[in-house]
Amino acid sequence: MQATVYKSTGSWYVVKTYTGEIFQARMKGIFKRDGDITSTNPIAVGDVVEIEPDDSDANAKNAMITEIGPRKNYIVRSSPHGKNKKHIVAANMDQAVLVCTVKEPRTSQGFIDRFLVTAAAYHIPVILVFNKKDLHKEKEVEKFDAMEELYTAIGYQVMLISATTGDGVDDVKALLKDKTTLMAGHSGVGKSSLINVLMPGLDLRTKAVSGWSGKGLHTTTSAEMYDLPFGGCLIDTPGVREFGIVDIPKTELSHYFLDMQPYISKCQFNNCLHINEPGCAVKVAVEEGEIDVDRYVSYATILETIEAEQY
Ligand code: GDP
Ligand code: ZN
Repeated sequence: MQATVYKSTGSWYVVKTYTGEIFQARMKGIFKRDGDITSTNPIAVGDVVEIEPDDSDANAKNAMITEIGPRKNYIVRSSPHGKNKKHIVAANMDQAVLVCTVKEPRTSQGFIDRFLVTAAAYHIPVILVFNKKDLHKEKEVEKFDAMEELYTAIGYQVMLISATTGDGVDDVKALLKDKTTLMAGHSGVGKSSLINVLMPGLDLRTKAVSGWSGKGLHTTTSAEMYDLPFGGCLIDTPGVREFGIVDIPKTELSHYFLDMQPYISKCQFNNCLHINEPGCAVKVAVEEGEIDVDRYVSYATILETIEAEQY
């Protein structure tokens, strides 16, 4: 029967069937899917699998995973087991929410852009949800407005909420309803607090932002999927600091900067990296203020990372 992977410990998986039955499942031998990608984990949260329940102990609810269904999409990060190895964070999502903050701690534009590029490469729509609205004074309002203007112009949806006061949380619920959503954000932005508001009773542990550094404490666990009480599924990705861009060829990177895309075809060279090449339409657009300078800086920074990782 068919089931969806809700949790992975590496050797065991918690899977749920469409009738709501939960099994502890193990992989049967080593098998490959069609169009397999090399990753350190063959099965990820969100994967649709075929299971064979083990009937020898009716109370134990054990099963074997015999097949993995094709993935609509997936998102990776670099594996801790080595450079260039991929670890699949989650598969088969409809969208991703990146929780950000302009204060305590400030989410850097570089971090946001890195996430957006990765998601674009895997065809996953992203919504930027800025949390801690209650902390916004004049300066933060200005910073948020600038971020909202920039990313809205590129085509991303941007929201402003407060997990503490509940402001805007209904809009988040409407966004998540009946969809499978990956939720990410660097430590301290209030992702756990938001999830606790969305799913009362779950009680994810929240961590106070540690004083001097302004960064939240870090705990590492793997992704886990939850059923939302109002319909839909949420994939929490605790401890994921960065989503990988390891497998994006450098000549393709600019395709995933949606604001650069319209200029790429006007560059003199069709393999232009938009750094030093003559006749680069992207650089002209940056100089003329049509592409945001900080976005271009993010592009150049990510390009350097890719060059360092791939060679
Ligand atoms: P996570 O690391 O992203 O999961 O962040 P947590 O949910 O653990 O929150 C980090 C800190 O930010 C905690 O002290 C929370 O109480 C606080 N926090 C979360 N949401 C808000 C908010 O909307 N406003 C304010 N002022 N603090 C918040
Ligand atoms: Zn160019």
